[in-house]
Amino acid sequence: MALVNEHFLKLPNNYLFADIAKKVNAFHITHPKEDVISLGIGDVTQPLCPAVIEAIHKAADDMATKQGFHGYGPEQGYDFLREAILKNDFLPRGIHLDLDEIFINDGAKSDTGNIQELIRWDNSIGVTDPIYPVYIDSNAMIGRAGTKGEDGCWSNVVYMPCNAENNFVPQLPDRRVDVIYLCYPNNPTGAVITKEELRKWVNYALKNDTLIFYDAAYQAYIQDPNIPHSIYEIRGARKCAIEFHSYSKTAGFTGVRCGYTIVPKDLTAETLDGERIPLNPLWLRRQCTKFNGTSYISQRAAEATYSEEGKKQVKETIGYYMNNAKMILTEFRRLGFECYGGKNAPYIWMKTRGQSSWQFFEELLYGAQVVCTPGVGFGPSGEGYVRFTAFGSQERTEEALQRIAGWVNK
Ligand SMILES: *Cc1c(COP(=O)(O)O)cnc(C)c1O
Repeated sequence: MALVNEHFLKLPNNYLFADIAKKVNAFHITHPKEDVISLGIGDVTQPLCPAVIEAIHKAADDMATKQGFHGYGPEQGYDFLREAILKNDFLPRGIHLDLDEIFINDGAKSDTGNIQELIRWDNSIGVTDPIYPVYIDSNAMIGRAGTKGEDGCWSNVVYMPCNAENNFVPQLPDRRVDVIYLCYPNNPTGAVITKEELRKWVNYALKNDTLIFYDAAYQAYIQDPNIPHSIYEIRGARKCAIEFHSYSKTAGFTGVRCGYTIVPKDLTAETLDGERIPLNPLWLRRQCTKFNGTSYISQRAAEATYSEEGKKQVKETIGYYMNNAKMILTEFRRLGFECYGGKNAPYIWMKTRGQSSWQFFEELLYGAQVVCTPGVGFGPSGEGYVRFTAFGSQERTEEALQRIAGWVNK
C-alpha cells in the first residue's frame, strides 16, 4: 500500500490566486459587459527586451548546428553566465564570490522551495509576516511547519509581524530560530531593508547559528543607492546566508525561466554530534541528483541582460513599471489612502479603511471593476491590507486609477 504524504493535506486547499479568479469570474457572470482591470497578479506584462530576443534567436541557431548544439549543460550552469553574474551583480558592490558558489536555476521559486532539503525536518523556521507563501508551504510539505491553526498560523513557525505600527521593520525574534526567511525588496509589502537593519539580522544569525534564506528577486527595483542589493554587502553574511536571485521580475523572464542561487563555501550547519558541515557541496550534490540544469537558450538570454544594450533596455522596462508605481502611490495618497512600498519595489501595500482584505477586494471589484490582491492571502498580518502591482501597462494603470478615484468620490 502506498501511503500518502499527509503533510500535504494540512496545506490550505485553495490557492490565493485561484480564489481571486473565482470571484472575478462570478463578477463576470453577473456583469458580462464590464471590463475588469487587474492590478493584482505578480506577473510582468512588458515583452522581453531586444537584446534578450536577439540572444534567444542566436542560441536557437546554435542549437541547429553540430558545433553549436548544447545537450545537458553543467548542473551548476554555464560559466559564461556565472562569470557575467559575478562581474555585474557582485564585484561592483565589493562582493567576491567563487564561480562555484553560484548555482544557475530555473527561477527562484524552485530553489526557495527546495533549499529546505538541506536541513533536518525538526529545525525551527521564522518568517516575516506577511510573506511570499512558498517559504512556509514548502516547509509544511515535509512537516516542518507543524499544523495550521484557526488563526492562520502554523504551529512550528515563528512569525515576525510587519505592519504600519512597526513601519514594516520586523523585530528580531525573542528566541533563537534555526532558519529565517527574508525577502527584500519585499513581496507583498514593497518594503526595503537598510544596511543597518540587515546587519542586525546577520549579527543575530551569527550569534545564534541561524541560517538566513535571503530572497533578492526584486533587487533590480531598488532606486535608493543606500539600500543593499545583496545580503553579502554585510560583513559576515557569507557565514550565515544563502541568497536567491531571479531574472523574472528583473528582465521579464517569468516565461523564460532563469535565476541563480548563491551558496557560499563558508556556510556551514551542524550535525547532531557537533560537526560543522559545509552546505555548498551538499547543494551541489542535491542539484546533480535532482536537477539537470537550466536550458542553454534561457542562460544565453540571461547573459544578454548584462550586455551594454541589455542593461540599458532592462533598466528602461523597470523604469516603466516604477513610473506606474509612482502614479499609483501618488493617486492613492491623494485619495487619502494609507500606502506603503512602491518606491524601491513594484508593489504598493495599502491599508483598507477598516474593511477586511477580502471585503475591500470585493468592494473595489464591484465598485471600480479593479482587482487587487487581499493582503491576508500572504499571512495573518496582511489582514486589513491589499496589494497593488505596478506590472500593468501604463494606459490600463491610469484607467484603473481613474475608476478608483470615481468610486472613492462617489
Ligand atoms: C516572483 C518571485 C520570485 C521569482 O520567481 P521565479 O520562479 O524566479 O519566477 C521569487 N521570490 C518572490 C518573493 C517573488 O515574488
